[in-house]
Amino acid sequence: MALTRRAGGALELGGVALSELVQDARIATPAYVYDLDAIAAGARALREAFDGAPHLVAYAIKANSAGHIVQTLVAEGCGADVVSGAELVLALRCGVEADRIVYSGVAKTDAELDLAIGAGPHGIKAIQVESVEEIPRIAARAKAAGRTARVSLRINPGVDAEALDTHSYIATGHDDAKFGVPVSSVPDALALLESEGVKGAVRLVGVGAHVGSQFTTTDAYESSAKVVFDLARSLRGRFALDFVDGGGGFGIDYGEGCQASPPDFIRAARALQKEMSVDDLAFYCEPGRSLVGAHGVLVARVIQRKESLRSDVVRRWMMIDAGMNDLMRPALYQARHRIVPAVDPGGERRAYRVVGPVCESSDDFGIHELPAAPFDEVVILDAGAYGHSMASRYNGRPLPAEAFLKGGAVAHVKLRKPIEDWVDDRLGA
Ligand code: PLP
Repeated sequence: MALTRRAGGALELGGVALSELVQDARIATPAYVYDLDAIAAGARALREAFDGAPHLVAYAIKANSAGHIVQTLVAEGCGADVVSGAELVLALRCGVEADRIVYSGVAKTDAELDLAIGAGPHGIKAIQVESVEEIPRIAARAKAAGRTARVSLRINPGVDAEALDTHSYIATGHDDAKFGVPVSSVPDALALLESEGVKGAVRLVGVGAHVGSQFTTTDAYESSAKVVFDLARSLRGRFALDFVDGGGGFGIDYGEGCQASPPDFIRAARALQKEMSVDDLAFYCEPGRSLVGAHGVLVARVIQRKESLRSDVVRRWMMIDAGMNDLMRPALYQARHRIVPAVDPGGERRAYRVVGPVCESSDDFGIHELPAAPFDEVVILDAGAYGHSMASRYNGRPLPAEAFLKGGAVAHVKLRKPIEDWVDDRLGA
């Protein structure tokens, strides 16, 4: 992570002191700050792991949909993995070619299918089929558009939920998950793809899986890839596939370590691909978190502290101006983010429960060892993924500002909307 502490205690991201940055009235706290150079470097390192083999790094836009980030990744040769019509339109507007977009999702509407089929000269690269029942729906929309829709089968490889080694809310490739075509239904899906009513309107070009997120070793990714590669091999001579897709899920270090780096996942999958003789097919991956997570922080102002003494126990809280509406991961997944002062005054540390202003007990970022001496702002680390993209306006709170750093300076700012905006919206103005 391009985070360093200056002599004197100020924390820098991408060469910019965060405490100075938030003095800029446009970037008033709570504010997300991203290092575009570090994001570009991470994407480059991931692509280099392919060693020239055909591939597509389809950035999972859901992780962070900021246009400046998507455009940075497009400039590094990434495509996009989208999960809604809105994300598809955003990807196209950020310059992603339709031929480099895959679209996952268990409940795509007809209007969304129409966008995917109608994009670019031949529609997007692949609509990822997540159920047998979706196939005739795609065929009908393709026929109506007079096009052939390219699809891939997103299978649910049924990796044992225990083996997925991640929070149950972000494990997707087990038998009880709503995602993907279960392996037992794959023969039905294939028969349907070959049937008279569908053939011609829908063409199978890939098979893939995405079994979960925040994997810190490559084990679950490899187990899933094995099932995908095995299926791809069995389809030889029956379907002309272009690619196999391993999905996303590469973990980052939130403070508890992460054994495998994103290139490690690629090298492991590529080795398996060769071993299983499917390396004539391009390898697609769909990373979100690992491309942006560590390169974004959320800066918040300390509003006040609070202490209570009960049964001889002192409880200490630190109230900050960022809440669960700004960064939902702790409330949603019991995720823990490291929290540090923007300028460290040094001296004694005490345990503070860091909480936000939202009227919910779950608006709680956990207990952190922080300086007892006063300081103005905290920095919540590793907030670049599933941070702003999940933010809401609950409690009438405007979405946080965003600042994008490049070359050691602020390159772009997205302002926090004034509270009148929310008031007008609720009044129906
Ligand atoms: N692909 C699909 C289909 C997903 O559902 C997700 C995340 O949930 C991703 C890719 C991105 O995962 P990650 O951010 O863990 O890389």
